[in-house]
Amino acid sequence: MNIDLTGKHALVCGASRGIGRATAEALAELGARVTVVARSRDQLEVVAGQLAGGSARQHHALATDFSSPEKAAADVSTHLQTQPAQILVNNAGGPPPGPIAEAEAEAFLAGFRTHLVCNQLLVRATLPGMRAGGYGRILNIISTSVYEPIVGLGVSNTVRAAVAAWAKTLSRELAPEGITVNNVLPGFTATDRLDGLIRGRAEKAGVPEDEIAAGMRASVPMGRFAKPGEVADALAFLASPAGSYISGQSLAVDGGRLQSI
Ligand code: NAD
Repeated sequence: MNIDLTGKHALVCGASRGIGRATAEALAELGARVTVVARSRDQLEVVAGQLAGGSARQHHALATDFSSPEKAAADVSTHLQTQPAQILVNNAGGPPPGPIAEAEAEAFLAGFRTHLVCNQLLVRATLPGMRAGGYGRILNIISTSVYEPIVGLGVSNTVRAAVAAWAKTLSRELAPEGITVNNVLPGFTATDRLDGLIRGRAEKAGVPEDEIAAGMRASVPMGRFAKPGEVADALAFLASPAGSYISGQSLAVDGGRLQSI
C-alpha cells in the first residue's frame, strides 16, 4: 500500500491546534511538506517547527483569517505561487453553539463565510496546482452532524450540511481528473473545541463539567473521546496515493457513535 507523500505539498487549515494540527503532523510523517494555516503566526511557527522532516522540508506558517474568505484566498494564492499544493485540508473552528430558533442572521452568514465560502475560494486557489501536478486531494473536516444533526448546534448543523452537499457536487466534477474530494466527520475528539462545548453545556445545566463529559463518553460505544491523531490518520490515508479511488465520501471517525446505517 502506497501512503508515501514525499514531494507533495499540503495546505492544512486550522492547524494551530486540535485536529488540524494533528493532521499536519500526520501528513508530515508520511513525507509531505506542510503549510499550516490559521490566525496566530506565533502558534503556527511552533507547530511548523516541530513537524517531521524539520527545516530541510521547508514547512511553512501562513497566518490568515477564514472569516474574510477573499483575503484568506489571496494570501494563500500568493504563497502557492512559489510552490503549488496538491493536498488541501479545509478546516476551521466550528460555529458557536446555541438553539437554532434564537440564532441571528449574522451567525449563519459568519458560518457560511468561514466554512463554505472559504472552502470554495481555497479550492479555486489550489486547483491549478493540483491539475498541473497531476495529483489532487481535497479534504474537508466537518462533523457527524452531516448524518445526525446535534441538538444545540443549530447553525453548525446547517452550515455542515451545506458543506457536505458542496463537497459531493465538487467530487463528481473533479473525479474525471483523478482529484478526490472527501469529508472526515470527527466524533467527540479531545481538543479545545470539545472542552468549550463541555464547559458551555455544564454552565447551562448547572452541573459539573465531569458529569457532562461522562455523559458524552457514555454515548460513544467505544466509551471514550477520540485523540486528535485518530481523526488525522483517516485524513492522511485519504490524502495518500492509497486513497485514489475514494471520492465523494463522508467518513465518520466517531468510535461507533452514529446510529444511522
Ligand atoms: P479547535 O477549535 O481545537 O481548532 C480549530 C482550528 O481552527 C484552530 O487552529 C483555530 O485557530 C483555527 N481557526 C478557527 N477559526 C479560524 C478562522 N476564522 N481563521 C483561521 N483559522 C481559524 O477545533 P477542533 O476540535 O480541532 O475541530 C476542528 C473542526 O472539527 C471544527 O470545525 C470542529 O467544529 C469540528 N469538530 C470537532 C469535534 C470535536 O469533538 N473536537 C467534533 C465534531 C466536529
